[in-house]
Amino acid sequence: MTGSTDVDLSTIMSLCKRRGFLFQSSEIYGGLASTWDYGPLGVELKNKVKRAWWRRFVWERSDMLGLDAAILMHPQVWVASGHVGNFTDPLVDCTNCRHRFRSDHVEADTCPNCGGVGTFTEARDFNLMFETHMGPVQSEENRVHLRPETAQGIFVNFLNVLNSSRRKPPFGIAQAGKAFRNEITTGNFIFRTREFEMMEIEFFVKPGEDEEWHQRWIQDCMNWYTDLGVEPTRLQLREHEGSELAHYAKRTVDIEYKYPWGWGEIQGIANRTDYDLVAHSEASGESLTYFDEQTKERYTPFVIEPSAGVDRAVMTFLVDAYTEELVTSAKGKSEKRVLLKLHPSLAPIKVAVLPLSRNEKLSPLAHEVHEMIRGAGIVDGLVEYDDTQSIGRRYRRQDEIGTPICVTVDFDSLDDRAITIRDRDTMEQIRVPIEGMIEEIRAHFA
Ligand code: ATP
Repeated sequence: MTGSTDVDLSTIMSLCKRRGFLFQSSEIYGGLASTWDYGPLGVELKNKVKRAWWRRFVWERSDMLGLDAAILMHPQVWVASGHVGNFTDPLVDCTNCRHRFRSDHVEADTCPNCGGVGTFTEARDFNLMFETHMGPVQSEENRVHLRPETAQGIFVNFLNVLNSSRRKPPFGIAQAGKAFRNEITTGNFIFRTREFEMMEIEFFVKPGEDEEWHQRWIQDCMNWYTDLGVEPTRLQLREHEGSELAHYAKRTVDIEYKYPWGWGEIQGIANRTDYDLVAHSEASGESLTYFDEQTKERYTPFVIEPSAGVDRAVMTFLVDAYTEELVTSAKGKSEKRVLLKLHPSLAPIKVAVLPLSRNEKLSPLAHEVHEMIRGAGIVDGLVEYDDTQSIGRRYRRQDEIGTPICVTVDFDSLDDRAITIRDRDTMEQIRVPIEGMIEEIRAHFA
């Protein structure tokens, strides 16, 4: 009936709340603006997104390593990186209603809040870094920032990783973790928040080889989304224009997705040149360079940075997977079926075991089947047991949360020791002997 392009955001938000993907932070106190908590299904999805990313870009490659740096860093890091001076957005105030906006987010000269024309102040720079203090004294010397990106944790550890792992360029370091930006305007659910998570790679290459590696990374990143099932026609690449380029970038290309409100960035892939390593070498006095034993050359590597938002990826997978279709019910009526066609590797619940009813004769066998699937080590995620409500409603719930397969135990199962496996997307049901069930399920997740 519908693909995801015409789903509106409120439909996704209500599904997320109803089914336990995302809740408003501190909801019982009225909520904290633009801040979201991942519920039982949301945390599964988010962890699986990060795992899929790690698997593809660390485990499946021979030129990548991981890192998990602290959120708090030496204050000099942010001075050297240029964030203290440059990590700003242009801010304008409406003198009529006193609302504040990012000047590049308002069209013409009209206030989006009160409609006033020409009521804006001159734009001034607003630094997006959150500040806090380390230790009990709130003095200038104790001031630290919450990191606005994870990248700097990688740059300052460049030598540590190089020396401990004996790598040579081209090689990269991956890191996923929280970042904080005091955004002037937030919104579109988890698309733009002030606390979010990033998955970043800094890939170190010999200068001169940077442009070719940049191009390869753009393609590798794009493939990651499509391999996980995102519809290619809802993805596009967008080249940054000169004036838009960040202070450190030679070239940046964004991967954009067609969200319910229009195209938006999921990920940026920047050529950061040697900007950061040079800046940190100068500021720290440590030479963040590489000496090539073969050519007897010392150089500062150039850096290609694929930088993705975890929450934006989660949002993309949710929106893209959302599907409504018309099906014919058992009573011959036409009805709407909502399903999340999530890639099996991302599904929060992998398998749902559903006894046909709560009849006490069925439950021992159903529990046995549940334990067999859980214990087989074939499914790296939740295996749910659900015997509440009618079987039809339970199928609907599993479809709506994206569970790839349901295993149903019915009264015939007691005699023939066979179960029914139902496919989420095709609704096809096949009868399988319990003995062969594990193989059948394994094939589904292969
Ligand atoms: P935007 O132009 O949307 O503000 P950006 O260009 O500042 O984003 P980057 O600095 O390139 O973003 O950050 C890399 C990635 O981190 C983005 O592609 C996005 O997925 C994610 N990200 C950045 N800011 C936010 C935010 N406020 N909320 C959620 N995710 C974010």
